[in-house]
Amino acid sequence: MRIDLTGKQAMVTGAGKGIGRTIATLLTECGAEVVALSRTREDLDSLSSEIGCRTLVTDLEDPEAAAEAARQAGDVDLLINNAGISIPQPFLNTSVESLDRTMSVNLRSVLVVSQIVARGMIERGVGGSIVNISSQASLVALADHASYCASKGALDQLTRVMALELGPHGIRVNSVNPTVTLTPMGEMAWAEPSKRDAMLAKIPLGRFAKPNEIAQAVAFLLSDHSGMINGVTLPIDGGYLIA
Ligand code: NDP
Repeated sequence: MRIDLTGKQAMVTGAGKGIGRTIATLLTECGAEVVALSRTREDLDSLSSEIGCRTLVTDLEDPEAAAEAARQAGDVDLLINNAGISIPQPFLNTSVESLDRTMSVNLRSVLVVSQIVARGMIERGVGGSIVNISSQASLVALADHASYCASKGALDQLTRVMALELGPHGIRVNSVNPTVTLTPMGEMAWAEPSKRDAMLAKIPLGRFAKPNEIAQAVAFLLSDHSGMINGVTLPIDGGYLIA
């Protein structure tokens, strides 16, 4: 099965590093025109020189800036809401500021960007496909991740409601829910050997995910090969959630 996204414009948020950068690269290889959004200009400059994408330097914590970036992206056919943050804190020490920041990026920016992109798809009558990057943390409790788990649980429900309301316009909305993935975020949260080994012991395949394993599932969900798949939250977790 070959995924051909020629003629499609794809907007990837959080494309500067990690999973988003890998998605932007793979989608370019599949023929899509990529608009890459992230916060750090240097990351986007180096990505642009590698894959020739358009770039938008934006902080999605600011809803006005998020909306403006979505407008500047133009006619988007494929949207990947990937940008996310994690601020690990025990529940009893979770601050209101951390909760607000996490919700702003991981949930609110998805709403703001997707509304503008979906309105454009509906006006153009072209349909489209949206993939939200959620997490296994939406479905199970992870110690020290109260804000993050809450944000991803809410994101899964947003995915379902988007799929329900946008489906009649030919717009499919799905999420992927990875386990720990070897990116700057994954290494930050799971570097401590005791935490890392305990998590690895719960993954039947006995390893963490590679960014390309997430990107390939995303490309499938964006493509016509998944034309009847709408509203799913797809674990990419080596079996973590079945244990
Ligand atoms: P990284 O931290 O490695 O990369 C995240 C990217 O998003 C960076 O380019 C970052 O830019 C950008 N970003 C973060 N906040 C903002 C913001 N406010 N505005 C614009 N861009 C922003 O994360 P991952 O690649 O690991 O994670 C990507 C997604 O996958 C996230 O939604 C995460 O929750 C999810 N995920 C990750 C897992 C993992 O173990 N890595 C597991 C499950 C899900 P900058 O560096 O400049 O801040």
